[in-house]
Amino acid sequence: MTAPFYLSVAIPAPLNRSFDYLPESGCDMSQYQTGLRVNVPFGPRTLVGVIVDIRSQPQSEGHKLKPIQNRIDHKPLLSKDIYQLALWLNQYYHQPIGECLHTVLPVLLRKGQAATPSCEAVYRLASSLTTESLDALKRAPRQLALVEHLQQHGETWHKDLTAAGFTSAIINGLKDKGLITEHQKPSFDAINGQAIQTHLTLNDEQQSAVTAISNQHSFQPYLLDGVTGSGKTEVYLQSIAPHIKAGRQVLILVPEIGLTPQMIQRFAQRFDADILLLHSALNDRERLDAWIMAASHTKSDRAQIIIGTRSAVFTPAPNLAMVIIDEEHDASFKQQDGIRYHGRDVAVMRAKLLDIPIVLGSATPSLDSLQNALGNKYQHLLLRERAGNATDAKLHIFNMKKRAVNHGLADELLTEIQSTLDKQQQVLVFINRRGFAPTLYCPDCGWIAECKRCDAKMTLHQKPPHLHCHHCDNKSALPRQCPECLSNQIHPMGVGTERLESHLSAQFNHVPVIRIDRDSTSKKDSMEALLEPVHKGEPCILIGTQMLAKGHHFPKVTLVIMVNIDSGFFSADFRAMEKTAQLVLQVSGRAGREKDQGRAYLQTEFADHPLLHLLTEENYHALSLALLDERKQQHLPPYGFQALVRADSPNPKEAEQFLYRVRELFNWHQKNNQLSGISFLGPLPSPMELRAGRFRSQLWINSPNRKLLHHFIKLVINGVYEIKGFNKVRWSLDVDPTDNL
Ligand code: ADP
Ligand code: ZN
Ligand code: ZN
Repeated sequence: MTAPFYLSVAIPAPLNRSFDYLPESGCDMSQYQTGLRVNVPFGPRTLVGVIVDIRSQPQSEGHKLKPIQNRIDHKPLLSKDIYQLALWLNQYYHQPIGECLHTVLPVLLRKGQAATPSCEAVYRLASSLTTESLDALKRAPRQLALVEHLQQHGETWHKDLTAAGFTSAIINGLKDKGLITEHQKPSFDAINGQAIQTHLTLNDEQQSAVTAISNQHSFQPYLLDGVTGSGKTEVYLQSIAPHIKAGRQVLILVPEIGLTPQMIQRFAQRFDADILLLHSALNDRERLDAWIMAASHTKSDRAQIIIGTRSAVFTPAPNLAMVIIDEEHDASFKQQDGIRYHGRDVAVMRAKLLDIPIVLGSATPSLDSLQNALGNKYQHLLLRERAGNATDAKLHIFNMKKRAVNHGLADELLTEIQSTLDKQQQVLVFINRRGFAPTLYCPDCGWIAECKRCDAKMTLHQKPPHLHCHHCDNKSALPRQCPECLSNQIHPMGVGTERLESHLSAQFNHVPVIRIDRDSTSKKDSMEALLEPVHKGEPCILIGTQMLAKGHHFPKVTLVIMVNIDSGFFSADFRAMEKTAQLVLQVSGRAGREKDQGRAYLQTEFADHPLLHLLTEENYHALSLALLDERKQQHLPPYGFQALVRADSPNPKEAEQFLYRVRELFNWHQKNNQLSGISFLGPLPSPMELRAGRFRSQLWINSPNRKLLHHFIKLVINGVYEIKGFNKVRWSLDVDPTDNL
């Protein structure tokens, strides 16, 4: 008789532990491995779990254990590095191991489906095809046509034959005669790159970056710190070239794929390799197919270049040679629900596990990465000049005090717009608010349109007319009178994209005025259609939100006006200034990407702000050093370490009461374990306390070092799960939060 053994299974449940099961009857230990998916009974349900341990003793005695239901896979689906990454998520973010393992898997695999690609039929000519058999087709001209089609095109998909007019009857007729054969082939399509462009000649700074990166074969993070247009993408392309040539894989993380078509095109035109795009528009099936294509162990089926957004960091790649994160400072790399991981940090961890280099590129590096570079954890590679013959946009502070202002725009800047258009150039007006105006206001009684479910104002929209809460999506009809005093004087307060659009359309009615925001681009491909005049190069005015700040290449834009960025200077979020500076540079970087020198105007009421002057008179680096200095003095990240417990409930005060209990637990552990250094702040109401009908509260944990923070969370976290009596409260833990919302 063999010794008994027990399987510890991680299950996606809000409990930070694994559960023990017995093996199936008649199965021995050799049939199980960690990383294997299994179906297990859990209460009344069957859940998909992953074996995380095989042990000779159960974790706790005295429970009657059930056997697992069945094994889903025969060998572990997760590669070693991805499995280890999931364990790291568990350790670092202190989230249940079962949820971590689910997070790294595509949805269909979480649901227990097999990792087999979806296939469709393709047809080939049979090898037995002879001239005699063709002669026999003389009286079947459509069948003959199909044979000729295949002779000309080679292997062809069923759907393409149908599209070419061949019916199933024709196809089946030939199949029955044994003249063509049918095969099943994975139907998911990668982009087939073709090396039709040659490398550009690098400038000295680009060259030394490429030399450093491509000579590195073990773990080393690089911060590629280069102003917009300095040729970072060219550095990526040339650094990966030797790896692609050697048949290896690279993973490239980008903030938003929809906004990077030009970048993808450059990869596709540079390499004779398959490129996989992993973006939010893929459905679950396509995502799994892409996952399989990346994971393939056969070289011919495998995609070599994987480009994706945040969650693509978990894409398996058995022959990964390098990771690149473009726009590494971008907020979208941080997951804001479930396991709140930071894609950048996970990517660095993955590179470390695989012992390969990783490149973090940005024109405006995050202070965290900059600090790592200053501390020599990352190697700092600088590109100070714009590549080619483009010159930097000149950034001007435009003092709004005592100016004539209409619809949010200083009248004097209208002259600038006019002269830019006269030169046949284009203008970009940036405003961070969609809609017509941030709210509706009654001057007679002071009423303001507010959302009933949020501590927020309703945005006024004119296209079509309605009020809309951007926080909970609540919509209502536009009132004709003030609901409080019945005054007819209610009017819009503040400025949004629609209002600027109508103002500028009236001022410049001879050129296209194009508005780009979430409302104008909600339909697929509408952005590209709207941008057509811009790409054609004719004089026009672009008005838009953040959507315009990323990725786009607008060679003819030479004037950028930023309408309202002041809120960034006086926010309760200590990262606000960093984020605002990144945004300002990203937006102003849209100007003068080619030979025409660009100008950017920053409208502000706070023209004397010293940090703003640092940005315009010196540069982002000078500003970031000043900001780092502030952070250091205040023991804030990256010099201090934080975790944030958020809670919300439909009942007022309930989330706060829950957090008081959490805080008591924290205090108790801190005292018991003599953890000096750790401090707490809260419970505090969240900056928007009521949101979508829930009252929100937060509790901060601060620590002078990372190790202590993690040690503390590990001590307390299970206790938080065990707090009883708060059924309506939802809570979450955010390690290294990136905002205070
Ligand atoms: P970034 O990614 O830093 O914004 P890109 O790589 O997109 O910069 O380069 C900006 C522009 O400069 C592109 O049009 C690119 O083709 C061009 N470029 C980049 N490197 C060179 C080079 N070494 N010589 C000439 N043009 C270059
Ligand atoms: Zn009123
Ligand atoms: Zn709301």
